[in-house]
Amino acid sequence: MAETNHTPPTEEDTTTTVPRAFGYCAWHQGHADGVRLIDVIEQGSGSGGTVFACGPCIAVNNLVPFADR
Ligand SMILES: [Zn+2]
Repeated sequence: MAETNHTPPTEEDTTTTVPRAFGYCAWHQGHADGVRLIDVIEQGSGSGGTVFACGPCIAVNNLVPFADR
């Protein structure tokens, strides 16, 4: 019998990282449609997470979406 070296799938953040979605815009502090992932904050304390911004806020603040870097 061949041993299967089964590695469990890496646990990813439960938050979906879809580039376009309805979500919370951290810049105008409200929900908007078509938000994009701007930054991923990695903090061990648990307060980290993903930061999204909507289209208008991206344009006004010259933000660069995380996927476009
Ligand atoms: Zn916004």
